[in-house]
Amino acid sequence: RAKTTGRNRWMFYTPEMAEQIVQRREMEESLREGIKKEQFSLVYQPRYGHNSSRIIAVEALIRWHHPELGLIMPDQFISLAEETGLIIPLSDWVLKTACRDAQQTLHGLSVSVNISAVEFRSWQVVDRIREALQESQLDPARLEIEVTENATLWNPENSLEIMLALKKLGVKLLMDDFGTGYSSLSYLRNFPFDGIKLDKSFIDGMPGSDSANTIVENIIGLGKAFSLSITAEGVETEEQLQKLMMMECDETQGYLISRPLSLTALKEQIAALDSAAQERASQNNQG
Ligand code: C2E
Ligand code: MG
Ligand code: MG
Ligand code: MG
Repeated sequence: RAKTTGRNRWMFYTPEMAEQIVQRREMEESLREGIKKEQFSLVYQPRYGHNSSRIIAVEALIRWHHPELGLIMPDQFISLAEETGLIIPLSDWVLKTACRDAQQTLHGLSVSVNISAVEFRSWQVVDRIREALQESQLDPARLEIEVTENATLWNPENSLEIMLALKKLGVKLLMDDFGTGYSSLSYLRNFPFDGIKLDKSFIDGMPGSDSANTIVENIIGLGKAFSLSITAEGVETEEQLQKLMMMECDETQGYLISRPLSLTALKEQIAALDSAAQERASQNNQG
């Protein structure tokens, strides 16, 4: 139990805390080893465009296949990776794998990669992304970088410069989890974002909650005024999708449309959707 008395800070470590520290250290060690042994995979979650009624992009999401613990989700190791600096080699692997998959397999689709806000504290991020593009020969216009608004807060001038350098490379910038942080769209307008991803927490309230509907509608309106593409995250029901389409939200993503898929499953899904669309088109021509 931690206790503060007067001007002095006394820390009492309980056995549980000691255990946590040990666990953390072990976890850090196995993360380091996991990176060395490439125990990771990417799954891809489609983003669906309303105007095109097609998959127009996919988001790369990391998974860790731990030899003893099994599948570990990113929420359980990304913050540790950020605190230990291991996020850099981890993120390099994600960037290179996603760019290679997009170039070799996902013809015509854009791929988005989540980059941690802490990576935006260094100019290195520009070189690392350039290197992944060069190595894969992927058209930079097909790579999208997702960052949370935290990336703009640490040192706004510095992050603005870094983002402008990324834009110069030709990649797109998406603001992830929009609405969960402290900044506003008018603040973000000063940064060169191409689009925003509306956080799932807003979509969850739709269409039942009037306030959720109003907030989402207003963000979509403001986004359009600022020429930002709007993606709704975490769309789970048909009702949410209908409402978002009425509000002219540009893109949707969520379990309703597709869960994150392995590269193989994604290819099958794209082929199935394409043939369904072709069938509809030929039926329309006949009828
Ligand atoms: P995110 O970038 O906001 O990704 C969306 C998360 O919501 C993903 O979880 C996705 O699987 C999940 N999701 C998508 N649609 C739905 C839905 O309809 N319902 C529900 N309940 N969930 C949905 P995931 O894959 O566990 O990733 C969690 C977070 O971990 C991501 O949030 C992102 O911040 C981070 N992350 C994932 N991969 C990477 C990575 O390669 N690098 C970094 N730095 N962060 C990553
Ligand atoms: Mg994301
Ligand atoms: Mg998100
Ligand atoms: Mg998130």
